Amino acid sequence: MHQLTLAEIARGLAEKKFSSEELTKTLLARIALLDPQLNSFISLTEDLALQQAKAADARRANGESGALLGAPIAHKDLFCTQGIRTSCGSKMLDNFKAPYDATVVAKLAAAGTVTLGKTNMDEFAMGSANESSYYGPVKNPWNLEHVPGGSSGGSAAAVAARLLPAATGTDTGGSIRQPAALTNLTGLKPTYGRVSRWGMIAYASSLDQGGPMARTAEDCAILLQGMAGFDPNDSTSIDEPVPDYSASLNGSLQGLRIGVPKEYFSAGLDPRIAELIHNSVKELEKLGAVIKEISLPNMQHAIPAYYVIAPAEASSNLSRFDGVRFGHRCENPKDLIDLYKRSRGEGFGPEVQRRIMVGAYALSAGYYDAYYLKAQKIRRLIKNDFMAAFNEVDIILGPTTPNPAWKLGAKNSDPVAAYLEDVYTITANLAGLPGLSMPAGFVDGLPVGVQLLAPYFQEGRLLNVAHQYQLHTDWHTRTPTGF
Ligand code: GLN
Repeated sequence: MHQLTLAEIARGLAEKKFSSEELTKTLLARIALLDPQLNSFISLTEDLALQQAKAADARRANGESGALLGAPIAHKDLFCTQGIRTSCGSKMLDNFKAPYDATVVAKLAAAGTVTLGKTNMDEFAMGSANESSYYGPVKNPWNLEHVPGGSSGGSAAAVAARLLPAATGTDTGGSIRQPAALTNLTGLKPTYGRVSRWGMIAYASSLDQGGPMARTAEDCAILLQGMAGFDPNDSTSIDEPVPDYSASLNGSLQGLRIGVPKEYFSAGLDPRIAELIHNSVKELEKLGAVIKEISLPNMQHAIPAYYVIAPAEASSNLSRFDGVRFGHRCENPKDLIDLYKRSRGEGFGPEVQRRIMVGAYALSAGYYDAYYLKAQKIRRLIKNDFMAAFNEVDIILGPTTPNPAWKLGAKNSDPVAAYLEDVYTITANLAGLPGLSMPAGFVDGLPVGVQLLAPYFQEGRLLNVAHQYQLHTDWHTRTPTGF
């Protein structure tokens, strides 16, 4: 039963082959057995899960249906869940029980999903290896000595190991797509504003976006359907109707124009990954797509711009954690300044502190123009590059990451080496565009992802291309040994 996708679960439940309660019990037992190797969960919510499963079974017995009714999922631990610890992977929020549900959590619950737990993540979503969590690193089910990617590494490892069919993630600079690539999943970062950020603990507000992580594009369509939509509580949420994503899966790719940026194939890319990307291009050509070389000339400036803007926003967002209102408070503060200093010093880990310092520096008087404003100008250039490219092509294709999953600890002494792994993903966040990563093969037994980018609100097009590709390839069906 643990091998079933969301789409198969919906069919099985509709045909009464099993109940949501049976499925939930099976998966909870599997998590208890296998997760100690992976550390993909921070909290399990067994009681809530069984209660939601029974309620979903009752709704089905009353004649209700729905693709998510009775479907087990998990939430990245930065989505607020009422009455349940919402830690954001940090000691700062280890004792924080959210007083309300994030819009995404509430919408998915209303659609009938069953929440098995909260997944591990890099502290405050800062990282690409899931090693900065206060709760310890997550292991990659494809090789337990390797990282699963981050920051949604817990969601990725759990879904890849078949502990559950799908989970939510968030993507500020690649944190859905990159862990999806490194664990052989399909993950979608929607257009900025497509999914409500209300109740999503903020890292960099102009970049953050929640989205689905699953094994197939078909399942991403199902989960995104439950997440997307306008939310009056989020002033950046966009009031556009949500299309039927599952209905978009079967479009023909005949004549689809795919742009492959020449800048993607530079020295930093593992040549074995380059070969797999070329193979995926050939596969899509067989399905009728037309390939065109394009250029994204400002791509080289993306990492420096991102690593100014994201820390700048983080330094501002994380100022709310002051030992007074939320989370960790130091023992016996001497005075208010001591309370701030020690609560923050004790509550935040080293990567979070580094980013707060970088961000506060970039925003300070005298440096603002040189760093922050300049980074914002680069951001516009990057967006303009994409707009020009999308005049010529329908989809942009390339690698999701320059390398496969690295060994735990391998990049710990060199934060910049880890930042460079984001080179292909962060441009979509800077421009606010939707992006998807899907399985494209293996290097040394480790999964490789191909990334697709589309114009604003064309999530359906991304899911369509990925689904057609998955009908003709079987990379996404491979299962890690031992799981
Ligand atoms: N790796 C990037 C960072 O550390 C992206 C993280 C994310 O998308 N949350 O900022």
